[in-house]
Amino acid sequence: MDDKRLDHKLDCKACGTVRMDIPENATEATPVHCSSCGAYLGKWGDLQDDFYAQARGTQAFDLNNGNITRK
Ligand SMILES: [Zn+2]
Repeated sequence: MDDKRLDHKLDCKACGTVRMDIPENATEATPVHCSSCGAYLGKWGDLQDDFYAQARGTQAFDLNNGNITRK
């Protein structure tokens, strides 16, 4: 296991992947769903807050088209 991965806040609770289906014109209030299984993950604003809170300082992760990748 890779212990440097993001914590489970951003993982899909249903299938465990970190792939978000984010609409192009997403706003803070846009609901975001898992691109693998379609489960609701949360509001885009909240997910962004979680992502940047975890990525800040480490520069270890990128958020590209909804897919979180490790640099
Ligand atoms: Zn899923």
